[in-house]
Amino acid sequence: MNILMDSYNRSLSYLRISITDRCNLRCKYCTPLTPITMLAHEEILRYEEILRIVRVGVQNGISKVRITGGEPLVRLGVYDFLQQLTAIKGLKDVSLTTNGVLLKNNTARLRAAGIKRINVSLDSMESDNFKTITGRDYYHKVWQGLESAIKDGFDPIKINVVVLNGLNERELTDFAGLSIQYPFHVRFIEYMPIGQSNFKPTQQLFTPEIKKIISSLGELIPVDRGENDGPAERYKFKNARGEIGFISPISHHFCSQCSRLRLTANGMLRSCLLSDHQVDLRTHLRSGCSDEKISEILLDTVKNKQQKHTIRESNHFKISSQMSAIGG
Ligand code: SAM
Repeated sequence: MNILMDSYNRSLSYLRISITDRCNLRCKYCTPLTPITMLAHEEILRYEEILRIVRVGVQNGISKVRITGGEPLVRLGVYDFLQQLTAIKGLKDVSLTTNGVLLKNNTARLRAAGIKRINVSLDSMESDNFKTITGRDYYHKVWQGLESAIKDGFDPIKINVVVLNGLNERELTDFAGLSIQYPFHVRFIEYMPIGQSNFKPTQQLFTPEIKKIISSLGELIPVDRGENDGPAERYKFKNARGEIGFISPISHHFCSQCSRLRLTANGMLRSCLLSDHQVDLRTHLRSGCSDEKISEILLDTVKNKQQKHTIRESNHFKISSQMSAIGG
């Protein structure tokens, strides 16, 4: 087996795949108000193309895949696709990131397709504010989806909260409190300047400030890191059923531990979320390339992964692609 080792001795074993750029929410910071051009149907990778890339990836050392989007659950045929994906030999972990809107009646199907871990994005627990942030009145659907996920035994259930000063910072202690009452892993994520959006850098709130706000609920007790932990700094409140995590790509970047590659909805391979550099895998696939060629592109992309991103709290650098197409 080849090992996808980059020039800085990082082993890249984690592939995040956006299966669609479509979404049933219009989050202020993710989708701009001005219309953006959506990918044409034929531009989006077909499921069999994605499965082929994953199979070749696994031969090269990929062991972990996350499906994301856009909203992955809006794509037709997603449950059959997931079943085929989780059946790939050598793939140890397949998870899903969803906004939870379509979760309620589909948690059993996800379990049947072999998904055990999900991340649900939720930026507000006040239905009016949820509507303000997402453009849709779907808070109750997401909450029912989370209840259904608990009932069907997903473990862990992570709740991703992008912290948006002026939009949800007053709810941070409510979110933190969820981890006491429910077995949720609530993760506070710093906003990253990606794509066009109406969100201003001055609305960013960074982890040290977030920690200070939620510490009013009690001491944050550090949780030991597990072997497969991602970049989250993990904590727990005393006697809590769940956990708190902080993901700080801007204030405390974790590039030295990064193990990720990304495949966009239109088949571009990216080695860093916070760089516009990408390789067009789709054109190679559709011109009949061999599996060896796919391996070569994977190895080459890995070799060229940048050491660290160059976004800092103080500058206004922006990634031009939309998060919905790259996959968050
Ligand atoms: N639709 C799915 C969802 O909402 O989870 C998957 C795609 S969404 C792009 C994945 C995650 O990226 C969400 O948690 C979203 O809040 C987060 N996200 C989007 N834009 C972001 C940004 N500019 N900075 C930080 N997180 C962002």
